[in-house]
Amino acid sequence: MNVAIETEGLTKTYGALTAVDHISFEVREGEVFALLGPNGAGKTTTIRMLTGLSRPTAGNARVLGLDLRRELPRIKKQVGVVPEHSNLYAELSARDNLIFMGQLYGVPRAERGERADELLRRFRLGEKRDVPFARLSRGMKRALTIAAALIHRPRLLFLDEPTVGLDVVSARGLRALIERLRGEGVTIFLTTHYLEEAGRLADRVALIVRGRIVALDTVEGLKSRVSRGVTVEAHLASPSGEERLRFRGEDVETALRVALDHAAAEGKRVMAVNTIQPTLEEAFIELTGLSAEVMLAEKGNR
Ligand code: ATP
Repeated sequence: MNVAIETEGLTKTYGALTAVDHISFEVREGEVFALLGPNGAGKTTTIRMLTGLSRPTAGNARVLGLDLRRELPRIKKQVGVVPEHSNLYAELSARDNLIFMGQLYGVPRAERGERADELLRRFRLGEKRDVPFARLSRGMKRALTIAAALIHRPRLLFLDEPTVGLDVVSARGLRALIERLRGEGVTIFLTTHYLEEAGRLADRVALIVRGRIVALDTVEGLKSRVSRGVTVEAHLASPSGEERLRFRGEDVETALRVALDHAAAEGKRVMAVNTIQPTLEEAFIELTGLSAEVMLAEKGNR
């Protein structure tokens, strides 16, 4: 298995603040890797270091087999970056933005037009080719920003909070696009503070809190670390109405007994019971010691 990114003690400090604190991890070639954490955890800073926009204070990384500190120009030619806030030009048309990016990334002049048109088609922006970036919808802007990051056919794509600010339909379209790129063999490194998004998209997830990686595993692996007991949900009925309650126990039998004891004591009838699988949210809470709400509270929900 080839490694797309390998960091070793990567660190960034701003004065007394350690934004990224000696993180070491590997991203495998061809996978979708999510860096999941609350606002200010150090996600953007990590991407900025790995793409040469910010110099690490300590540590180093290899990106596509190249040394971050010594071979940055060669790295830049092979990676695409989609920042959280677009880097495209407001007054340039959709197509001209792509052509311009192609120029920046060193795509031969003769190929720029063809690649731009191909990307416009793929991102369903063909009709908007001559429309200035500023006049595209938010979802279209994000799509064009991603298209621009692909103009030089990178093997590795960095996406910073790809679906923030998008409506449900655009966000779904974007997730489908990420799946397609993965299918084409592009390695995807994305940051997100949406637990659900990481759960749906990522092959592996690194939880980052205050600059440190507290866990790194597959989504299933993270869930399976929710060790403490089993939750059952019981559908209960009483003369005053129906309700669903959750009961916990160290195993299914104990949790069921707790539910039955509760029903007997309260004079309720048990209509149905099912066991609840641990969610990524529970894993997150257990592994980080944070409440899942911090992820939403700090950034505003969709
Ligand atoms: P967000 O979801 O808001 O993008 P994040 O996880 O990407 O959060 P970073 O943007 O990497 O977090 O910020 C990590 C910490 O570093 C924060 O405390 C932030 O205030 C600080 N920081 C980031 N950039 C700078 C800078 N240029 N100067 C000083 N402090 C900075």
